[in-house]
Amino acid sequence: MAAIIDGKAISLQIKEELKEKAAKMKEQGTDVTLAVIQVGNNPASCVYVRNKKKGCEYIGIGSVSYELPEETTQQELLDLITQLNERKDVNGILVQLPLPDHIDEDTVIKAIDPKKDVDGFHPQSVGALCIGQPGFVSCTPAGIIQLLKRSGIEIAGKECVVLGRSNIVGKPMALLLLRENATVTIAHSRTANLKEVTSRADILIVAVGRPKMITRDYVKPGAVVIDVGINREENNKLCGDVDFEDVEPVCSAITPVPGGVGPMTIAMLLNNCIESVKLQ
Ligand code: NDP
Repeated sequence: MAAIIDGKAISLQIKEELKEKAAKMKEQGTDVTLAVIQVGNNPASCVYVRNKKKGCEYIGIGSVSYELPEETTQQELLDLITQLNERKDVNGILVQLPLPDHIDEDTVIKAIDPKKDVDGFHPQSVGALCIGQPGFVSCTPAGIIQLLKRSGIEIAGKECVVLGRSNIVGKPMALLLLRENATVTIAHSRTANLKEVTSRADILIVAVGRPKMITRDYVKPGAVVIDVGINREENNKLCGDVDFEDVEPVCSAITPVPGGVGPMTIAMLLNNCIESVKLQ
């Protein structure tokens, strides 16, 4: 039977640590504030934004939110970001993605001051990660490293396969594992002999966005399996990219969906907000 990696409990542990840090900073006269911008009212984005604001409240830092109408122009959004970049009382800026089609996400991300880029999506943040310099790291992959470390799973020297090469999960995940001295392979939709590749992994990280795609024939017996996927089944239930029932009996540890990687993303965002003060 595999160990179930409890992301909810680990994220709570991190939030308690951040609560203490935020209180100490407050005592020393430093307030931390996150600005959250949402354009339109995509239902999933509304939930994410609400949870992020609740997270700030929980650890005792401030948040200001801008809920802009769907028809907001790109220039209006860029002007708001410029204002927030300049404000000394705002430490982190988060623009909830996806943005409406008439707004170019790359342009918007690039407009955020890298010192306030708590999502870690700015090209400067990604570049810093690549060459091992300080900067913000994308929250989901950073959360996965914490899940592994706090579960006592050794990363150094391990064969890690990251399935998926998106800018927000797969690529930064691979760079972080490399930083932890793993031997890293990135696989994707054009990978030949995918099962052979994933079956080499001591630690398999799956971020493909395909419900229950990964069955036990993709997994080496005894591997650690981290499931990043968040998908809805036909009955509206959440499921991951890994077929949990099929894989759990053959691996040594696995994250459930929900309750695995998901809760870590917000915990790491809050961590980035606290860290932002050091960069500013
Ligand atoms: P993307 O759609 O941006 O990337 C998916 C990746 O999977 C691509 O690199 C794609 O390859 C690869 N892929 C797709 N199908 C296959 C296949 N059949 N075989 C091999 N590779 C395949 O997704 P994201 O990285 O943004 O997200 C992945 C999942 O993680 C989603 O379910 C998303 O909801 C979830 N997620 C969860 C978060 C959390 O907080 N827990 C945060 C972010 C995402 P190619 O590049 O060749 O097209």
